Amino acid sequence: MSLKPSPDAQQTFAPATRLVHAGRDPGEQHGFVNTPIYRGSTVLYPTYDAIKNRRGRYNYGTSATPTMDALTTAWTELAGAAGTVVTPSGLAALTVALMAAVSAGDHLLVTDSAYRPTRQFCDGVLARYGVEVTYYDPIIGAGIADLMRPNTRAVLVEAPGSQSFEMQDVPAIAEVAHARDACVIMDNTWATPLLFPPHERGVDIAVEAGTKYLSGGSDLLIGLTSANARYYPAVRRTFDHFAMCAGAEDIFLALRGLRTMNLRLREHGRAGLEMARWFQARPEVLRVLHPGLPEDPGHAIWTRDFAGASGLFGVILKPVPEVALAAMLDGLQLFGMGFSWGGFESLVIPFDCAGYRTATKWAPGGPALRFHIGLEDTADLKADLDAGFARLRAAT
Ligand SMILES: *Cc1c(COP(=O)(O)O)cnc(C)c1O
Repeated sequence: MSLKPSPDAQQTFAPATRLVHAGRDPGEQHGFVNTPIYRGSTVLYPTYDAIKNRRGRYNYGTSATPTMDALTTAWTELAGAAGTVVTPSGLAALTVALMAAVSAGDHLLVTDSAYRPTRQFCDGVLARYGVEVTYYDPIIGAGIADLMRPNTRAVLVEAPGSQSFEMQDVPAIAEVAHARDACVIMDNTWATPLLFPPHERGVDIAVEAGTKYLSGGSDLLIGLTSANARYYPAVRRTFDHFAMCAGAEDIFLALRGLRTMNLRLREHGRAGLEMARWFQARPEVLRVLHPGLPEDPGHAIWTRDFAGASGLFGVILKPVPEVALAAMLDGLQLFGMGFSWGGFESLVIPFDCAGYRTATKWAPGGPALRFHIGLEDTADLKADLDAGFARLRAAT
């Protein structure tokens, strides 16, 4: 009944099946369906010989617990990786990936569309430790070859881009990077391995902010760093050096989210695309940033490489006074205004990439909003936004 991690399990079962069964073994826990929460620092050894020679699967709470193993085993299967570490946040997972891949004297290429705190870590920490960082145009594709230097050790990709939603040709970038023996790191939070299997597409180290769709409830912070056989040892060493371990309750909640992630993501994706099309037809809207739309510049890549969309996209409005925008957003009943996303509830934030981009110019032509479409009925969401647009027009 239980799906033991075996080499052929990955070939035999579809991702939806793996999500349900991976990383748990009722036979090992008195028949209970789920792996319990193991809390603990100390692990006791039965004998002098056992502690002297570190015999036993578990040694100390920071390095591994059965609860941690349940999630990392499941994620490794899902992502098609050689191994995974679980960290206390998505940003922490990114820092583990970067610290595992680059050293003093190395050159790192980072997409200009990267999650902003990723940039801040590169500029604020990696630069201090002697890593040189160059930002590149996200749509560069195989043109990344022109930016590679003899000491380029890693290329960071993120698709679609944070806030701006550019698609990236990850396989093309990976081919160039691998020809120069550089590591490809991807922030795969938007798609999850369900919609973009990172390691199959040439990614060496993949990062997921589990805070988003793995949680699905806006109630926890967690990150995952998965890697292929070449890079997993370095990722694991870096995780151990920092003792970058997540809390037991958060891991348990993430496991609970994992079992239903496929179903939730499908609905977020369906409703998101429906809402994106609805925005496209609005007279107040200039452009919708969603790779699932045929008009989107990244649509061909998305169709080729992705199995679907999640529920996050951007909307550029025609120019309006700021008071009109405030009137629209302040009166919304169903869209909360706040950072993060991936939960069951709809969200909106205003954004502006102009202040921090360095390789590309951000000039969208009007105010930019990022929407996350939750699990509400889309007719209710449209009615709420319709009233919002009426307030916007009245205040213009
Ligand atoms: C939210 C987010 C992160 C960081 O996750 P936290 O758990 O909030 O640290 C990383 N990358 C992307 C694309 C995100 O949206």
